[in-house]
Amino acid sequence: MPAKSPRYVRVAVPVPLNQCFEYRWPAGLPLPAPGARVRVPFGRRERVGWLVDGADEARFPDAKIQSVTELIDRESRIPPALWRLIVWCWNYYHHPPGEVLANALPPFLRRAGPAPSPLPAAYALSETADLPNPAVLEARAPRQAELVAAMQSGAISAAEAAGFSSAALKRLLQLGWVNALTRRQFALARTGGPQLSDEQQAAVSAVRPALGEFGRFLLDGVTGSGKTEVYLSLIDTVLEQRAQALVLVPEIGLTPQITGRFRRRLGIEPVLAHSGLSDGERDQAWLQAASGDAPLIIGTRSAVFLPMYRPGLVILDEEHDLSFKQQDRLRYSARDVAVQRAKLDAAPVILGSATPSLESLQNARRQRYRHLRLTQRVGPGDLPDWRVVDMRQQAVEEGVSAPAAEAIGAALRRREQVLVFINRRGYAPLLMCHHCGWQADCLRCDVHMTLHRRPRCLRCHRCGRQQPVPQRCPACAGIDLRRIGEGTERIEQWLADRYSDYPVIRVDRDSTRGRDAMENLLAQIKQGTPSVLVGTQMLAKGHHFPKLGLAVILNTDQSLYSADFRASERLAQLLTQVAGRTGRANIRGEVLLQTYHPDHPFLQALIGQGYGPLAERLLQERREAGLPPLTFHCILRAEAGNQSAVSEFLAAARQVRPLPDGLLLYGPMPALQARRAGHVRWQLVLQAEKRHGLQGFLDDWLPAVERLPGARKVRWHVDVDPQEF
Ligand code: ADP
Ligand code: ZN
Ligand code: ZN
Repeated sequence: MPAKSPRYVRVAVPVPLNQCFEYRWPAGLPLPAPGARVRVPFGRRERVGWLVDGADEARFPDAKIQSVTELIDRESRIPPALWRLIVWCWNYYHHPPGEVLANALPPFLRRAGPAPSPLPAAYALSETADLPNPAVLEARAPRQAELVAAMQSGAISAAEAAGFSSAALKRLLQLGWVNALTRRQFALARTGGPQLSDEQQAAVSAVRPALGEFGRFLLDGVTGSGKTEVYLSLIDTVLEQRAQALVLVPEIGLTPQITGRFRRRLGIEPVLAHSGLSDGERDQAWLQAASGDAPLIIGTRSAVFLPMYRPGLVILDEEHDLSFKQQDRLRYSARDVAVQRAKLDAAPVILGSATPSLESLQNARRQRYRHLRLTQRVGPGDLPDWRVVDMRQQAVEEGVSAPAAEAIGAALRRREQVLVFINRRGYAPLLMCHHCGWQADCLRCDVHMTLHRRPRCLRCHRCGRQQPVPQRCPACAGIDLRRIGEGTERIEQWLADRYSDYPVIRVDRDSTRGRDAMENLLAQIKQGTPSVLVGTQMLAKGHHFPKLGLAVILNTDQSLYSADFRASERLAQLLTQVAGRTGRANIRGEVLLQTYHPDHPFLQALIGQGYGPLAERLLQERREAGLPPLTFHCILRAEAGNQSAVSEFLAAARQVRPLPDGLLLYGPMPALQARRAGHVRWQLVLQAEKRHGLQGFLDDWLPAVERLPGARKVRWHVDVDPQEF
């Protein structure tokens, strides 16, 4: 940082331009640390931006530079480690600084105005207060008396307190009869955990000495091996050290379960951070994390940007999960950002999974991550048995083979639960005219529309467009419209007809739309009554259903022949995770896999050897093909209403700089989903042997791409370490 009061400052403004902007700085005004909010003129209006640094020279002529209108924060509210993380993100992902900040910061730091005050977590009677006799208080102030009575047996949470009169609470706080407690002060009853197995203990012992310094661990534990117990034990130590732990999970749907378990075991109320929060709740989560009042933070992807005052441990559970990669705006991987932040925080990071990503396995092989293994299930359950059903020789009803139908019936009669997995929601993936062959396609994307039954409509799963179901064929006016293929709704209906004595519970994105819908469905499943669960991959993630004996996997064959080189890794993870839901307690687990390709080497390897050895093979294939994680990718994607604009822009981008050694450039070529919402998507794929080689080229290449005339005629973005093609 230059002089205390520089002439100019660089400011990050939340606009989609990959640069900071120069402004004149008021003479003599001391420069706050980076991240302080400023108000600046921008175009025809004013905007709130963030100070990046100061300079005594500007790139533009002085006369063209405008002045900062207002310094909003005398001191930056962004802790230095978080600031460094944000800067790392904009450099690494080559994304506009202002947009990275807007993505990472809570609502109150994205606008002007004062910060909200942190709210207490709970209230308790003051031990020193001289409370009046209850009968007297009851007569004089009945609403205060109610609150006092509620606190008689201990502190009540802020949520509980909200059920009482807020005026009475305010008065009691003024009188000093009641104290507000932070989360750290609010101790709940806690229950003990199981005795750790030797493998669990070994994992805990490997991480514990590393608390207080940076370290990277891959906790590679088969489904049901008790990874969560390892986390709990380590978090307990972190809390004893009065430090904070951050736990990242893939889905909001999983947070209530995890929070409940963590709350009971650790005796504290975790702060939750996920996309379902209101702006006010988001601000509170940030403030409590930043002040250290929150000992434990549990959140989804974006929680990786929450600051910690005393960082102790970062955990990312189900690290292979695709939801950790943001697929729009700032295309970051929360897994990679979590590792980076742990480094800046000088804290250990644990990536946990039963099916680690090839990226993490490769890091473990190269000794960058310490590889901790849990090879055994804890408790009575064993890993499930697989049975392959060769679909070529089966009677099939609505996609369910006769052996599968029999197995479902038998499991229900044994009073077990059954999971029927199908990775497609809606009723049928295609509506077709049997007379002329017309198909209900989305007019704006290159996919079929999915037929939905409740509510009845045709819906495009790519662009979201929706339309009524035609009564007659729009092409030939024929009335024989057929519903081809199966989705969750159709299977649900078939199961409900066939096993009418048992409840059928459907879990997919449509059935879990309401605020507590997922939680209610999970609670229903956990009751353990014999029932059939039918659903998509939402059902495969992390759940512990003790009564689940059988999983039936209906149809995943299309992934065996996908054009995406990651499809086999994803399929291996998905099948292993679905299978891993079964047989977790006293019931023997069984998995029935329906396929038309029972001899496919991939299935043979997965079933014969399991995920670990298969993943080794897949890594070997990637190495031979020169694909990630052995090389590094970056995609430049462009979309526009017409194809020539995108292909011309990408062709120009390809030419604008010579390609250095060690880099390959493929394209322009259409993206795998080339038409979406009426736009054509094309791409260039950069492949590099070394990560820094790729980054070095991007630093030079992207500014040149930005200056191309064609760059303003299309929408384009950069995706570093892309997960989809
Ligand atoms: P994972 O996260 O690896 O799928 P969990 O930590 O959820 O596994 O553990 C699965 C089940 O086994 C949970 O009900 C948990 O309470 C129980 N469990 C975990 N560790 C032990 C242990 N050492 N002894 C007995 N039960 C255990
Ligand atoms: Zn027709
Ligand atoms: Zn569409």
